[in-house]
Amino acid sequence: MASQVTVINHPLVQHKLTLMRQADTSTAKFRQLLKEVGLLLGYEVTRDLPLKYEEIKTPVAPMLAPILAPEKKMVVVSIMRAGMGFLDGILELMPSVRVGHIGLYRDPTTYVAIEYYFKIPQDIEQRDILVVDPMLATGNSAVAAVDRLKEVSPLSLKFLCLLAAPEGIKHFHEQHPDVPIFTAAIDEKLDEYGYIVPGLGDAGDRVYGTK
Ligand code: URA
Repeated sequence: MASQVTVINHPLVQHKLTLMRQADTSTAKFRQLLKEVGLLLGYEVTRDLPLKYEEIKTPVAPMLAPILAPEKKMVVVSIMRAGMGFLDGILELMPSVRVGHIGLYRDPTTYVAIEYYFKIPQDIEQRDILVVDPMLATGNSAVAAVDRLKEVSPLSLKFLCLLAAPEGIKHFHEQHPDVPIFTAAIDEKLDEYGYIVPGLGDAGDRVYGTK
């Protein structure tokens, strides 16, 4: 299957991403922006949700109106911690969507992703999963999350991030060529510490003010 990367270059997303990249953007502002881009990216990534038609009555006339097909059940899985800030925007867009969480941290020397938490809805075999994490850097966390989620056999998987490094995209698609990536930008490279350059720094620290 061909690898797919979609860059969501909507002007509002690009503008907000620029504000987030700036080193002097406050924690409060960064958090607000992450939520806003989460909503906008979520909107783009759900473009292919199927609709069905139902007979309704407006105050003027009956009509056949489109609504989301109920059998198309989606789950958003957030990679903690930075995925949480992203998830907030998606939940505003889809308030009743089911949510799973995967806790992964990067070993500071090897950058290998280590799982410390895993909780997802039970009927996952009938659901499409959208995995969210703002940063696709080395790709180790994304690969580990999707490895784990494939064990529970969802209908399909997509990966949504805000920023991706070319190295992360390559690694991810070597392991999971069947999982499309959606991102707002592909940056230049990773530095020797595994940070995206130019990037925006540590997304978790910036959204929670821990540095
Ligand atoms: N995780 C982050 O939060 N930022 C990076 O640049 C890389 C990984």
